Amino acid sequence: MSEEQHDTNVRIDNPADFPPQEDTVERLWTPQRMTYVLRNADDRPTRPKTRECPFCAGPRKSDEDGLIAWRGTHVFAIMNLYPYNVGHLMVCPYRHVGFITELDDAELFEFEKATTLAMKVMEEVSHPDGYNIGINQGEVAGAGVAAHLHQHVVPRWNGDANFMPIVAQTRTMPILLSDQRAAYAGAFARLAPDFGLPLK
Ligand SMILES: [Zn+2]
Repeated sequence: MSEEQHDTNVRIDNPADFPPQEDTVERLWTPQRMTYVLRNADDRPTRPKTRECPFCAGPRKSDEDGLIAWRGTHVFAIMNLYPYNVGHLMVCPYRHVGFITELDDAELFEFEKATTLAMKVMEEVSHPDGYNIGINQGEVAGAGVAAHLHQHVVPRWNGDANFMPIVAQTRTMPILLSDQRAAYAGAFARLAPDFGLPLK
């Protein structure tokens, strides 16, 4: 920082004071794309609706057919048909909304509370070493079903990210989804009352 900046309240950082961080990521600077980023929300492209929303259809089926592990008052837990890892569960509101900002307080509370319950369920069923939890909101952010909010809860074990996904574009899935659902459903039923969460 130069001397003359010290007597003002405005901090002006000189890029030259910050040597570039070494990493392996190439960056392509494309300021012209701000046109897309800043354009009117009404102009955003939407995928044509060709089939019913799976997160609206799921709860209308039986637990077994819909791969539902738990049903609460405002949200439910459903197995992911295309799991990132064994035991990949999703917590969804019953209501067809795309963004977490659209949930009311009761929904939001149960959405997050059920996410922590899902971790406890996984702990009991399969003893993970860690978890990936997160929401992709909007197609641009990677949401597969962008129109219906869903929180991913993915159990992780030391050594699970082996060479298979990299070499073969394949994940090893040693447990059937139906068996995993049944194991989760049992643990949800046992643990939900301690979390102050309902069972339906
Ligand atoms: Zn839906």
